[in-house]
Amino acid sequence: MIVILFGPPGAGKGTQAQRIEREKGLVQLSTGDMLRAAVGAGTEMGLKAKAKMEAGQLVSDDIVIGIIRDRIQEDDCKNGFILDGFPRTVAQAEALDGMLDAQGLKLDAVIEMKVDDNALVDRISGRYTCAKCKAGYHDTNLKPKVDGVCDVCGGTEFSRRADDNAATVGKRLEEYYALTAPVLPYYAEKGVLQQVDGMAGIEEVAAQIDAVLAA
Ligand code: ADP
Ligand code: ADP
Ligand code: ZN
Repeated sequence: MIVILFGPPGAGKGTQAQRIEREKGLVQLSTGDMLRAAVGAGTEMGLKAKAKMEAGQLVSDDIVIGIIRDRIQEDDCKNGFILDGFPRTVAQAEALDGMLDAQGLKLDAVIEMKVDDNALVDRISGRYTCAKCKAGYHDTNLKPKVDGVCDVCGGTEFSRRADDNAATVGKRLEEYYALTAPVLPYYAEKGVLQQVDGMAGIEEVAAQIDAVLAA
């Protein structure tokens, strides 16, 4: 199964993609995570992406399309994958169609998670992740069961993203509405677009997504 989780920054894509990976064995492909890994490793690609990410702007289509083209050919993607944060422009969506066609693969669903801007700012400012296994948490919405200890791996170190600050969030939302939201009519025309209420709690959103995946 090939599924796209679609929505603005902070909508809950990563949270749900991680869960689906754990529960259903589909691989989570997050271009944001891959770009942060490249920035951390100081690769040439990372150097190109870094300034854009810090400014809350999209990284160039060439870079992210190249990343996904290579990644979906790896063995672990054979049973299907969930795209989280890709495609983010119409050009990326078109490129993805080309790649899937070339491999004889088909997109099963694009799930749009709708969340109000105010809630997005709250979600992004409270977001943090386990430094070891990257499990996602939130200061008030999703705390580890034991304070300071990761539920998934027992790690005790956590980190916050450099771009999860009030100044950058506004720019990221602007980029979303200007460049990413226009992808929605593209998928609506193809008849694969589904919506869930991203304002609901994490469990309720999970149930709505699972209902789409089961259909
Ligand atoms: P995205 O990948 O779309 O940017 P995340 O999955 O990282 O979003 O979620 C952003 C923050 O909001 C995280 O701290 C997460 O724990 C929290 N969160 C995710 N889903 C919900 C939800 N349905 N209700 C409240 N908080 C949520
Ligand atoms: P969020 O889910 O909070 O928007 P991501 O981790 O998906 O954050 O992305 C972080 C940053 O990485 C984006 O602001 C952008 O600079 C870059 N990025 C991630 N995915 C893409 C993409 N598909 N196209 C262009 N830039 C991307
Ligand atoms: Zn962990």
